[in-house]
Amino acid sequence: MRLVSYQGPSGPRAAAVTQHGYVDLNAADATLPASMNELLALGRTGLDRAAAVSRVGQPINPSSVKLLPPVPTPQKIICIGLNYADHARETGKQPPPEPVVFCKFLSALSAHGWPIVLPAVSNEVDYEAELVAVIGRGGKNIPLATAADHVAGYCCGHDVSARDWQIPKPGGQWLLGKSFDTFAPLGPELVTSDEVGDPGKLRIQLRLNGRTMQDSTTEQLIFSVPQLIAYISQVCTLAPGDLIYTGTPPGVGAARRPPVFLKAGDLVEVEIERIGVLSNPVIAATA
Ligand code: MN
Repeated sequence: MRLVSYQGPSGPRAAAVTQHGYVDLNAADATLPASMNELLALGRTGLDRAAAVSRVGQPINPSSVKLLPPVPTPQKIICIGLNYADHARETGKQPPPEPVVFCKFLSALSAHGWPIVLPAVSNEVDYEAELVAVIGRGGKNIPLATAADHVAGYCCGHDVSARDWQIPKPGGQWLLGKSFDTFAPLGPELVTSDEVGDPGKLRIQLRLNGRTMQDSTTEQLIFSVPQLIAYISQVCTLAPGDLIYTGTPPGVGAARRPPVFLKAGDLVEVEIERIGVLSNPVIAATA
């Protein structure tokens, strides 16, 4: 099943994607919650009920609504650095012995089609295609053996990164460099785990103005999604709707000679096999 969130008159609405349009789950069955977070909190049961309702509900025209990030209000946006063996080589670093974990502010979250706004204070805004795992059932100290059961599904994600704020600032400001407003596009759809299959066997690509800049596979992931969940949940309680941006493959702009950075007028597309295409135009900040 494929799920989206769209802007309703009184807040975000969760809907299933069908061949006839979006089926608003709460409108089709008032006992289902209106928001994606509440739906995910119901676990497997909620997704099964959503799938059943999507077959009978009244579809709405996707072009008549404003798309939101599939999870509009996650509790956490967790990100993993240097998690592709081929990307670690590109940056000249050894593969890390444990996951490199950082986060993005929730205010950075953005949706399919929304513009990436270039900050006036950065001249080195880079792109990073990423597979994003969406937590369904939450938990603390989740064992590796059952960690995959805690994933509701996957989205395409984009870890937009201002390199001149990430690397040369005192202490290395990954949080700031990656948390400018609009720097966490997500979407267009949340594809449930059963439909994705093995998340470790997906082709992942990024195109800049139609030119392929990143083209790899999640087989290159150093730490798998279950390993990341087991590792991170030692520290914090994972909640339904939490996002894990799992890292980027090689081909980022900063590693190129000469470097390639985003400029106003660009169009960036993240494509992940069986998940979809996340597309965002790039614009300059307005004063
Ligand atoms: Mn990244």
